[in-house]
Amino acid sequence: MSGCADAARVLSPYGHGWVVCHAPLSSLRRGAISYDSSDQTALYIRMLDVRVRSQVGFEPERRGSHPYLGVDFRTLHSRAESAGSIPARRIRRLFSFQRHLLSSRLLRGAPHLNPLHILDEDYCGQAKCMLEKVGSWNFDIFLFDRLTNGNSLVFLTFHLLNQYGLIELFQLDMVKVRRFLVLVQEDYHNQNPYHNAVHAADVTQAMHCYLREPKLAQSLTSFDILLGLLAAATHDLDHPGVNQPFLIKTNHYLAALYRNTSVLENHHWRSAVGLLRETDLFSHLPAEDSLSIERQLGSLILATDISRQNDYLSRFRTHLDENDLCLGHSTHRHFVLQMALKCADICNPCRPWELSKQWSEKVTEEFFHQGDIEKKHKLEISPLCDSEANTIASVQIGFMTYVVEPLFAEWARFSDTRLSQTMLGHLGLNKASWSAMEPEVSGSSEEGESESARATEEPSSRALSQGSQES
Ligand SMILES: [Zn+2]
Repeated sequence: MSGCADAARVLSPYGHGWVVCHAPLSSLRRGAISYDSSDQTALYIRMLDVRVRSQVGFEPERRGSHPYLGVDFRTLHSRAESAGSIPARRIRRLFSFQRHLLSSRLLRGAPHLNPLHILDEDYCGQAKCMLEKVGSWNFDIFLFDRLTNGNSLVFLTFHLLNQYGLIELFQLDMVKVRRFLVLVQEDYHNQNPYHNAVHAADVTQAMHCYLREPKLAQSLTSFDILLGLLAAATHDLDHPGVNQPFLIKTNHYLAALYRNTSVLENHHWRSAVGLLRETDLFSHLPAEDSLSIERQLGSLILATDISRQNDYLSRFRTHLDENDLCLGHSTHRHFVLQMALKCADICNPCRPWELSKQWSEKVTEEFFHQGDIEKKHKLEISPLCDSEANTIASVQIGFMTYVVEPLFAEWARFSDTRLSQTMLGHLGLNKASWSAMEPEVSGSSEEGESESARATEEPSSRALSQGSQES
């Protein structure tokens, strides 16, 4: 759509397809919004249409309805009692984007571009206040999401790209950046209790915290930082709210497409590449550079596959034991970025209890909902997904013990800072809180050397992360 100065795609009122309208854009109106710039208009109409399409259910294939069970991933986690609130939320977000359109005009030609200008005045003060502390480990992404009307991923990522000077350095087109982020946010399924755009925003904020750690800040290039932020923002793109085993056992086409290997991560990566190309975000760069970005983005996102956790962890351990990580080498920097993204993806248990608890409830809700679907269709219930056999506490204690603690212990060896100690401190306290609610589970987990504990380790780590991370 970019560069299209005399034509715009608008939705045909007579069908589900696109039509090309050759009317002068300066005369086009959509709803109550009028446009005064032809090239901007083409982009803005596309931006609004994305939202309109999602509301009225166009492009059903984009969300991937399940062909065999009749499971529609667009509505998988919708709940009847919340049916009234979802449209209201979407309408608020739509209005919010109308504010973006108006305020984006202010951005054009402004000598000092401040992304906060695009926030509604009612929210500007509070959201701006929060963004001033975007590097804080206590950052409340749930509050920030409310203050931005459900647009936390767009605002947070845009702010960080701007703050690091990446937009200026890579000569990124401000409108393309915004359009890309809007599409990214839109392609997350907000009806997923956990794997939604707020999780992506949370991971991006955590990634920012890690990028500021001294060892990384001193060695990472601007290119590394750009990749790290983009990978964090897109790492769960178009997540269906179920894990890989579910897709495999139901013969979902994505499982066949990616040969049952890192199915979700491959899909997240390809979805991100699709949006990069759709928005022409890097089209001004040499082709080999934009291909390199796409390839490295894939390498980072694929690293979040929890079933490969032990591979990455043992490589990390070996490097730390031999003290041979040389961050002057691009391959070593990339490996550290992979580890940072893996940490950011599963850092929920390392946040303060008030935040951590909310994430725990959300991820367990998503697990149990998958289990309910499996029960309904008489499929084998996936580990941790049976609400009658598990509790939030038992799921969390296993996740912390077998997945989170080993990873963050090594991260603290690599980056022995106040932040890494803070994260380990929260992890210990949060685990104790869950254990207090589940005394018999905490007792068995402390028998870590027993055969029974060993026996549960592998399936626990694999299953737990499939919900909470890779994803
Ligand atoms: Zn994730």
